[in-house]
Amino acid sequence: MPDDLHDAAALRLRRISQRYTGGRRALVGVLAGSGRPLSIPEVLERDPSLAESSVYRNLAVLEQAGVVARIVTNHDHNRYELSERFGEHHHHLVCTNCGEISDFTLPAAVEQALDTALERVARRAGYRPDTHRLDVVGTCATCQHE
Ligand SMILES: [Zn+2]
Ligand SMILES: [Zn+2]
Repeated sequence: MPDDLHDAAALRLRRISQRYTGGRRALVGVLAGSGRPLSIPEVLERDPSLAESSVYRNLAVLEQAGVVARIVTNHDHNRYELSERFGEHHHHLVCTNCGEISDFTLPAAVEQALDTALERVARRAGYRPDTHRLDVVGTCATCQHE
């Protein structure tokens, strides 16, 4: 785990008067090592030393600090990932049947075309765009075969 990730996380927590405790550090480590957004049960599976009650609380604090992003699905469990300032800009494939989420990236030229089109929409409405979110919602390969 790169130390600069933990340094940056600690700094963002300090800004909201929170400490970067061992439990929060472990959570950031699990999310950074995952490669896809995780639900709380999946987080607990990957690091059984974490206590469920503190995971809920710590994820909320990390989200408030802008370290972690929550992806809301229409499924039982929200999923969590490191916010984009800690990683690559990406999009999600969301399965409406099982709630599974995986990441994907688009070619730079496609991102640029998207930004150009979205910026036009935003400016027309008086917005100054910072970034965009785009998720594909559908049925995953596993669910299609069931
Ligand atoms: Zn599925
Ligand atoms: Zn994009």
